[in-house]
Amino acid sequence: MKVFHALAISALTCLAGAAMAAECGPGALGTARTITLKREAALYGANQHSALPLAQGEVVLTFDDGPSPEYTPMVLKALADQCASATFFMEGQNLRLSPDLARRVVSEGHSAGIHSDTHPHMAELSAEQQLADLQRSRAAYLAVFGIETPAYRFPFLEETPTLLDALKAANITVASIDLGINDWIPEDTTEILAERLRVSLDKAGRGIILMHDANGPTAKALPALLAVLKDKGYKVVHLEWEK
Ligand SMILES: [Zn+2]
Repeated sequence: MKVFHALAISALTCLAGAAMAAECGPGALGTARTITLKREAALYGANQHSALPLAQGEVVLTFDDGPSPEYTPMVLKALADQCASATFFMEGQNLRLSPDLARRVVSEGHSAGIHSDTHPHMAELSAEQQLADLQRSRAAYLAVFGIETPAYRFPFLEETPTLLDALKAANITVASIDLGINDWIPEDTTEILAERLRVSLDKAGRGIILMHDANGPTAKALPALLAVLKDKGYKVVHLEWEK
């Protein structure tokens, strides 16, 4: 009976796996696992801080500067086609302009944090101006999602002591990066971005990948970028935060 029971469970597991694979399409990249982080004053991303607990070959997809009515839907489509979940770091000013699109991002299974209000160079602002920008972006997030943001990514990854202190006091996690593809040049082709991703992956081997959903070339290249991850055997890990 025990053997039969084990076989039955095994068959059910296979069926569930097959159903999911069919839903995602054969050969989809998929999302291998989800890490649910605490709402705490942590700092992640080996570029500046400690690394997330990821195995070799595991990556987290992140997109900054949106939501963009022009390009974010293209990014969502490419992710949905591969059943890949990502984290979007949104600007407060864009949350105010496109609240429905922001909610659509989350309703499609992705997570969201903030990325300042107007994307300034924080170090060039007074402490009061920095704190006002943070406050505006937190208020925009709260207005759109009905909860406080769990995470913050600095514009240009330029951290300041003033904001690091404020984020720590508010239990907001600072999300830096492990690797990027320098995707802000309008002339970048899909092949250039795909090659940058291959080089960055070979160097880092794992970690949080920075991309930009508000960047046209990135949105157009995303199917090819996800194919690079799949071809190289990388696994997508989705970041969530406790509610
Ligand atoms: Zn940015």
